[in-house]
This record gives sequence, structure tokens and C-alpha cells, in this order.
Amino acid sequence: MNWIFQKEGEINHYRERFHFGNQPIRVLHNMIVFIFQNTNPDFEKELSNTIAEKGISKQINIVYGDHRITKTPFIKFDDRAIYLEETFLSYLWCICHSIYTIYLQKIDFPKHNSYYGKEVYKIDDEILEKANELFRYAKFLIVDFETWDKEKLPNPEKYLAEYRDYIEQPNCFYTEANKFILCHEYIHAVKHIDEIVNNKLENSHYIEFEKEADFEAIELIKKGIFPNKINELPIQIGITLGILSMFFFKATTTGIKHPNTEDRLVSALNQLNLSADSECWGIALLGLELWGEQFNLNLTWNKQLNVKDAFEDMIKQIKENTNG
Ligand SMILES: [Zn+2]
Repeated sequence: MNWIFQKEGEINHYRERFHFGNQPIRVLHNMIVFIFQNTNPDFEKELSNTIAEKGISKQINIVYGDHRITKTPFIKFDDRAIYLEETFLSYLWCICHSIYTIYLQKIDFPKHNSYYGKEVYKIDDEILEKANELFRYAKFLIVDFETWDKEKLPNPEKYLAEYRDYIEQPNCFYTEANKFILCHEYIHAVKHIDEIVNNKLENSHYIEFEKEADFEAIELIKKGIFPNKINELPIQIGITLGILSMFFFKATTTGIKHPNTEDRLVSALNQLNLSADSECWGIALLGLELWGEQFNLNLTWNKQLNVKDAFEDMIKQIKENTNG
């Protein structure tokens, strides 16, 4: 475990015997399952009970394959197992890394530096450029597949210890984002599949199920916040990034069986009881701004307002400028 203290040079996590798949995200597959099983102190027990009672599959299935994202995470009705595409997982990590890094480099560090009147936190054009490049790569995976260049682009498998914070913090947000996704699917498995299978439901029913799955997932996760709150911010940032990752697929936020994506984001952030100056508001604002740029939606982050008010203002713009 020498890499933990390594300060310079290459870190390579890949071990052929443990890591399956071709994409560099493979080094975190075991971690997402472990983090999900330990969502809160009682969860492992709850999981084994419901697995026995409801016939939910124990297995979290990763669908391997070097192809574009064809499906976002889902649960199959017949075997009640959760499926995650490897390329989707790569996409999610890239979103976590790029939005977080762009946030640090463009928003957070400049703010602190101007407070101190000097460059306490290093602004690094190369780090920012690579984060932008990785953001472009993430969006590309929605339309087509291309190999993730481990030599040039940030990735969780192979990186320099000098830049480890830009990999290992996103790793943490990524596993938290996955925890939210898996808990959401788990709630569907426990509470909704029977109803869906046995009844012919109106679309409005599905929307209620989606809202309930988000809400209950966050409640499960909140039970896992330690009394000293040391893991609270990574959990909050992970959920924020997890929901933001749903935006970049299309220019609109409406769905027939899903609530509007911006409404899901608003509900989640409210449910997390964020402080008025939480980093999550800024991260959400940046993510929405990037989405606005992607589809020319004319969304602006009003920097005159405090972040919480600016977020509300941004949501209003989404409702007015798009079909949101
Ligand atoms: Zn759902």
C-alpha cells in the first residue's frame, strides 16, 4: 500500500486479477459496490433481508464493452438486478472530475486567492485545459465510443502522485454519486417493481415513483453521515454531481416518466439541508452553466447574488428559457 504515501511519480492501480473490463474506470468497480453496501451502518443487514424477502439479485452487474452509452443505470424486472454500463461509469467519473476541477480552478481558487491577496491556491492552465478536454470526452461517450487516453487525460487508473488530489477527490465523489444511483434503483426494486409488473399504470405514477426513489435514496444515505460529519460534504457533492450528470444527454429536462431534471436537483439539494454558502450551490451552478453552453440555452450565473439565490435564479431561467 505504498502508493498511499507516494508524493511523486506514477501511481498505477491496475491489477489484472482484480480488475475487469478495458476502461480505466475498472479500478473502481469493487469500490462502488463496497461503498453502496455500506451506505449506512444498518444497510448491509437491510440489504441481505430484502434480498431474501423480495428476491432482489445480490449482484450489481457491470455491462462491459467498449461502445457508446446505450443505457443509463437500470434495474431489470425479471431478475431484479441492477445493471450499470462500463461506459456510463467512465462518463460519470469524467463528469465528476471535470466539473469539480473546473469549479476549483475557475471559481473556488480565484475566490480564496483574492481574499488572501496572493496566489495561495495554484491556478494551473494545464489542469484546467485537461479538465475541459475530459468534459468533452465525457459528452462524446454519449454519441460514440473512443478509447480513454490514459497517458494524456486524467483517469483513476494511472496518474502522477503530484496531481493525486485531482484524481482521488473525484474518486470519492464518483463513488458517492454511484451510491445515490444504486440506492435509487434499490428503492425501485423494493417498493415499485411489484406495482409496475402487476398493474397498468399511468405515467404520473411513474413520476411519483421516481420522486420517491430519489427521496428515499437520499434518506438512506443521510443515515450514513457520521456524527462528526466528516463525510457529509463528499456525500453532498457526490449527489449533486450524480444529478448534474443527467443533464448533458439532451437540451431539455422534461420526461414522460421522469420528473424534470432541474426539479430533481432542486429537491435533492433542499433535502440535503445545505448551508447557504455550501460548495454544492456553486458546483450545481457551474454544471448548469456548462450544460447551457453545450446547448446554447442562454443561461447565466448571476455573480452579484449569493450562491443559493443565484441557484434559484438559474432554475428560474431554465424554466423560462427551455421547456423545463
Ligand atoms: Zn428511477
